[in-house]
Amino acid sequence: MAMVDVTIRGAGAFGLSIAWACARRGAKVRVIDPNGPGSGASGGLVGALAPHVPENWNDKKAFQFDSLIHAETFWTDVATTGGVSTGYGRTGRLQPIADDKALSLAQRRAKTAADLWQGKAIWQVRPASDFGAWCPHSPTGLVIHDTLTARMHPRRACAALVAALTAKGAEVTTDAKDQGRVLHATGADGLIALSTALGKPIGNGVKGQAALLQHDAANAPQLFADTVHIIPHADGTVAIGSTSERDYDDPTSTDDQLDTVIARAMAAVPALQNAPVIERWAGLRPRAKSRAPMLGDHPLYPGQFIANGGFKIGFGMAPKVAEIMADLLLDGHDAIPDDFRPAASL
Ligand SMILES: Cc1cc2nc3c(=O)[nH]c(=O)nc-3n(C[C@H](O)[C@H](O)[C@H](O)COP(=O)(O)OP(=O)(O)OC[C@H]3O[C@@H](n4cnc5c(N)ncnc54)[C@H](O)[C@@H]3O)c2cc1C
Repeated sequence: MAMVDVTIRGAGAFGLSIAWACARRGAKVRVIDPNGPGSGASGGLVGALAPHVPENWNDKKAFQFDSLIHAETFWTDVATTGGVSTGYGRTGRLQPIADDKALSLAQRRAKTAADLWQGKAIWQVRPASDFGAWCPHSPTGLVIHDTLTARMHPRRACAALVAALTAKGAEVTTDAKDQGRVLHATGADGLIALSTALGKPIGNGVKGQAALLQHDAANAPQLFADTVHIIPHADGTVAIGSTSERDYDDPTSTDDQLDTVIARAMAAVPALQNAPVIERWAGLRPRAKSRAPMLGDHPLYPGQFIANGGFKIGFGMAPKVAEIMADLLLDGHDAIPDDFRPAASL
């Protein structure tokens, strides 16, 4: 390969997406991951690209909103270039409304969404009966329907990014030397290593367990009911997630906590009751101390960069993280929100 402009360490959602944004702009890119692409949190199966609630607006919510709006173009471009589907679809989401208090909150949010979401998506209260059998039980008979939420298949999206990068002449490898500008997108391992090197907690891995069911709900909206995310994928499966565990012995094992999540999903959506569980999976979400993404200059390596801390919404954030980091790496243009800088966790 000719001289490399950008080397990215870590082939998860962040590393591959940043590599893609750079390659699309004409840079020569190398991605190095000793474990192979999608071997961390990004090799999972949930894939809810769901917005924060439309109120108390801040930099993080605005950034995520922009990212969710940009996602359709971003993932379509990836799939078209590499010829591999990401499973992306802006299929929306339904959430049951439990009581009168939740109803008035949902109605208030419908008003704030009209402003904050700039007419690009809606948040509305609708009768559950509008959605037929694919709707969680709602005590009020009403649900929140938003049209901003999308789905994609994390593992397939990683494969699609590798295919698109390869089509652009980028190198994705398990071992090579750094060349050009260097960015570390090494997920939970990277945050733990950083904490060790700096002798203080900078971030860690929060374990999550999820399951995949064989059930074809086609392009039905995803559901959030009884604290469980239920995501119909394009390939005739439904993902169920997730647990959230700070203490664990084995980051990749699944146990009865996942059984509880699956049982809740099946209770909320009777259509899933006989669906076979075809995969159980667990991984570590990279959580920075600030809980926000950690983007910018690497705290340990002068002249190098970091992109980490995707935590629970790494795939939702990836399209905008990719563009903003490509701006920094290729053009020296720094538009990173202050709350996302490494200093917020140091
Ligand atoms: C159960 C579960 C459900 C989730 N659900 C959603 C969801 O619905 N929606 C959403 O948006 N997000 C979700 N997430 C979060 C999302 O998966 C993560 O935020 C995202 O995958 C993080 O991507 P990453 O590239 O930063 O990290 P990772 O995917 O962990 O990638 C880091 C990579 O770095 C590599 N690496 C480590 N050390 C080195 C090194 N020294 N050199 C080179 N490479 C190295 C690793 O092998 C790994 O491949 C979920 C996570 C879990 C666990």
